Amino acid sequence: MKAAVFHAPGTITCDTVDDPVIQDANDIILRVTSTAICGSDLHMYSGGIPQARPMVMGHEFMGIVEEREGKTSMMLQKAMKSSIKKKTDV
Ligand SMILES: [Zn+2]
Repeated sequence: MKAAVFHAPGTITCDTVDDPVIQDANDIILRVTSTAICGSDLHMYSGGIPQARPMVMGHEFMGIVEEREGKTSMMLQKAMKSSIKKKTDV
């Protein structure tokens, strides 16, 4: 998959990285549909928060759950029911 990867202060490139895999019962794989830059990203970009190695940027995102495990499924179902309820309360 493609990802915005921070390499050094002032250097971010669009790289091909490994596809994610489920490693824990709490994991999900999300197809990101929207993302944004956060203040902490800007601190890394400017060199204010040193990074020891390249890092995929973008931790403020939303998307569609593509893969999940059983335990996460129950948590997501509760969250989705709550979200749907709030949406219809308008
Ligand atoms: Zn953030």
